[in-house]
Amino acid sequence: MLDFTDRVAIVTGAARGIGKATALRLAEEGADVVVTDVAAERDDVADAVEERGQSALALEVDVSDEAEVEAAVEETIEEFGRIDALVNNAGIFPTADLAALSAEDWQRVIDVNLTGAFYCTQAVCPTMREQGYGRIVNVSSAAGGRVGWAGNLAHYAASKAGMVGFTRSAAIDLGPDGVTINAVVPGMIDTGAAERVSSDEEIEAAVSAIPVGRQGDPEELANVIAFLASEASSYVTGASLVVDGGITKV
Ligand code: NAD
Repeated sequence: MLDFTDRVAIVTGAARGIGKATALRLAEEGADVVVTDVAAERDDVADAVEERGQSALALEVDVSDEAEVEAAVEETIEEFGRIDALVNNAGIFPTADLAALSAEDWQRVIDVNLTGAFYCTQAVCPTMREQGYGRIVNVSSAAGGRVGWAGNLAHYAASKAGMVGFTRSAAIDLGPDGVTINAVVPGMIDTGAAERVSSDEEIEAAVSAIPVGRQGDPEELANVIAFLASEASSYVTGASLVVDGGITKV
């Protein structure tokens, strides 16, 4: 049991998938949750947070837009007065063979997946430092350097590897102020993501290689994110926690 009583968490990309599971898990543990996303389903997730007895704020935020991120953080402070946890989950994964990958597509993936996490982290830091407490969790990917099954994803892999480097260095900057920052490194999580980038045959082959024999549930990743977003992870910072059913070990 993690204690999020009186804690406030911001989750990006929380309208569906891993972000949604995380927002609901944090609410179940007692956190008030700011549900941010470009997708309108953020409102349904905020309703689900309230059904779990917690306060919610649904905000339309494109994480690659610095002004929108700053406005969302200001609104959070106005509504709740503090920010205890930030989960940088928003991400996109369009596929393209390297030879056909345009500079625009490359840049968009870096902007959303990596620069977005930077904007959000920088925006919450003054509040977390002032509180002397904060937890930041970055959602990376096993495709960012751990496994080779992610062909046609050079831009995505670069963004997710970048997130690990960002996490390690930021941990050194933030540690003295009571703020920890860690990454989770998911393998295949069953959010429909694999179906968007791979054929059925490719998915079957990838799943058959996973030691536990299946994709992970979003809730199984949310469990780990919730731990890293909680007080209980106080001596963990700069880490990259692999959550992959063992695929990166084979
Ligand atoms: P998903 O597509 O189901 O959810 C991603 C959410 O991010 C969506 O709600 C989407 O609207 C939102 N989003 C996209 N662009 C945005 C932007 N610019 N600003 C704000 N929100 C934006 O994906 P998912 O499978 O839940 O993945 C969540 C995260 O986990 C992503 O960062 C992804 O790269 C990472 N990840 C997923 C897997 C997997 O197998 N599902 C594996 C490794 C890493």
